[in-house]
Amino acid sequence: MTQNSYIGRFAPSPSGPLHFGSLVAAVASYLQARSNQGKWLVRIEDIDPPRESKGAADSILRTLENFHLCWDDNVIYQSEHMDRYQQCLHQLYQQQQTYFCTCSRKAIKKVSPFYQGHCRHQRKQPSKDFSIRFYNPEPLTQFYDEHAGKLLFPLESFEHDFILKRKDGLFAYQLAVVVDDMDEAITEVVRGADLLDSTPRQIQLFQSFARTAPRYLHLPLVLGKDGDKLSKLTHAEPVDNAPANQQLFKALQFLQQSPPATLQKAPVNELLQWALSHWQPGLIPSIKSYR
Ligand code: GLU
Ligand code: ZN
Repeated sequence: MTQNSYIGRFAPSPSGPLHFGSLVAAVASYLQARSNQGKWLVRIEDIDPPRESKGAADSILRTLENFHLCWDDNVIYQSEHMDRYQQCLHQLYQQQQTYFCTCSRKAIKKVSPFYQGHCRHQRKQPSKDFSIRFYNPEPLTQFYDEHAGKLLFPLESFEHDFILKRKDGLFAYQLAVVVDDMDEAITEVVRGADLLDSTPRQIQLFQSFARTAPRYLHLPLVLGKDGDKLSKLTHAEPVDNAPANQQLFKALQFLQQSPPATLQKAPVNELLQWALSHWQPGLIPSIKSYR
């Protein structure tokens, strides 16, 4: 790899303040980018207003600053890219890779856990509310994760014709994230294993746009006391509630980087410097158990 050819990113949704699970993703993607002499971009994924909370984007950015996680270039906001998403959706339409779906969630659930392609041949715009789906007769059933290796996704375990634009008119995460990863020329995505199932779909979209997908490295999930995934939606505690150096120390421990006890009370920048010069992604705990 030539110097500086690495471009990584952290892409939080502004549904609440940064919690520990997202901090782990931020720290790991940052260390991976910087240790590859690469760029690290921050993208606010604000395309789902009903799930967003006011002030969350700014709060997340301030928290990243407190952790000395300094990003390159300007922060990117997905809400400013609607025209681009529409254009890419139109490209898929022209390639005959989309169709209109009028099924209700209830009707789908009645038949099977996953949508079974009921509207597959609906290429004419219906008069009632519709979502736009990806026409996907040959779904990808595996990909290579940089940490876990080859991961398999049995055909019956996921929805093949996934949604690109929702009934409420909002672009789906899968489309928006691929368009931005593509436009920002991201070379490696480092993120939580909660998004594992999304990765084969995203790789397929890259292929549809005739682009090479980035590499993907998924991180183990931080689980709450009750064993559930921490998330902003379940009101996980914001990392700001405790001193940043303690939280960073904990995040490095979670990633099994074994920060020395002598740095337990060190300031954030010192700890981050240590983490950077000792970063070993191979030590991150396995994610195999998520599948
Ligand atoms: N915005 C997504 C989230 O906060 C992450 C997207 C990604 O890293 O691909 O869960
Ligand atoms: Zn349908």
